[in-house]
Amino acid sequence: MENYASITPEELAKLVEEAEKQAKAALDKMTPEEREQSIARANKLIAEDQARLQKIVDEAKAVANGNYSKDNEPEPESAEKKTAMFCSNCGAPAGGGKFCEYCGKPL
Ligand SMILES: [Zn+2]
Repeated sequence: MENYASITPEELAKLVEEAEKQAKAALDKMTPEEREQSIARANKLIAEDQARLQKIVDEAKAVANGNYSKDNEPEPESAEKKTAMFCSNCGAPAGGGKFCEYCGKPL
């Protein structure tokens, strides 16, 4: 049995060279169509990954710019539209009517 720990750099280089030769031989055995298909498949996977990353980057940029999903979120109601909880004149709790029950000022 060969002891792998005793492999010299030269032997290792030879093994790597042999592996590269085998890989090349496998690629050479492929028809041009098969090679094109495997390259196209790899490119498609890369493109899908890039599209996914681009989407994340775009969303992060939109959030950073403060305009993310602006159209989806309702505009905050203006303060005047909301029913006053307290009379602005005397501070008494508003009873839900149009005028203050205590001082008669319009709410
Ligand atoms: Zn009042």
